[in-house]
Amino acid sequence: MAKTKKKPGRRPAGAAFPGLLEEMTVEEVRAFKPEVAVLPLGSTEPHGPHLPYGTDTWQVTRLCRLGVERANARGAKALLYPALPITNNANVRKFPFALRIGIRTLMTVILDIAKQCWEDGIRKVVIVNGHGGNPGAIMAAQRELAGMDEVPFVFWATDLKPEGFKDPMEHPSDHGGESETSRMLWIRPDLVRTHKLREFPVSEPRDPAFKRAQYVRPWHLYLPASAGGETRKSSARKGKAVIEAEAEGLAELLMAVSKARVDGRFPYK
Ligand SMILES: [Zn+2]
Repeated sequence: MAKTKKKPGRRPAGAAFPGLLEEMTVEEVRAFKPEVAVLPLGSTEPHGPHLPYGTDTWQVTRLCRLGVERANARGAKALLYPALPITNNANVRKFPFALRIGIRTLMTVILDIAKQCWEDGIRKVVIVNGHGGNPGAIMAAQRELAGMDEVPFVFWATDLKPEGFKDPMEHPSDHGGESETSRMLWIRPDLVRTHKLREFPVSEPRDPAFKRAQYVRPWHLYLPASAGGETRKSSARKGKAVIEAEAEGLAELLMAVSKARVDGRFPYK
């Protein structure tokens, strides 16, 4: 094998970019001195006959990798944790292998990870959620942390698309529709069963007045195919546009959070 000349400070092979914890060594992470931890929440649950169970995890992982890479290239010190692949799917349980932990368990997982972040010297955490079953647990964990000392300040990234961004999706859907199909066509086209694309049924509430209330939707009744809406206008171009827009918003958030000092008035001026 030919001898390659070592350049000082050069990242060793394997580290895709600084801040991707799964690909870093202990020496690299110590030298990196992260300011903020990024915790992606994925899910493993059915997404119709055309998308794989790991759809949510693939999407949130790609979004976070792009966002963290961009933020760190611009001077942030964000450390990306691996995505949690099993989260809350209580309302999807009538479908096979909708992998799930309880809402209280997920909340405790978030609390434990936050506490461990503090022990590792991290004072700021950004949660990026890729699954609709998780907001309740995220918000409950944030409320619980607000009453605790010696825990990091936890943000939940919710509004990532830049102002004025024109969503290219023509057929909105809550699950497994044009948006998720387009994202997967960009991220992992090999996993999209394009011959199965069609319009998947979406159930209407028994009375339109039900739209005035929040309730947990039994997924097998709401979306009998485990995906909903028209998917035939999906494209990798649309998926790329949306994920890149969200990644830009995430990069902006991470740069701001990374450089902000946590003092007695944080997060205010
Ligand atoms: Zn999904």
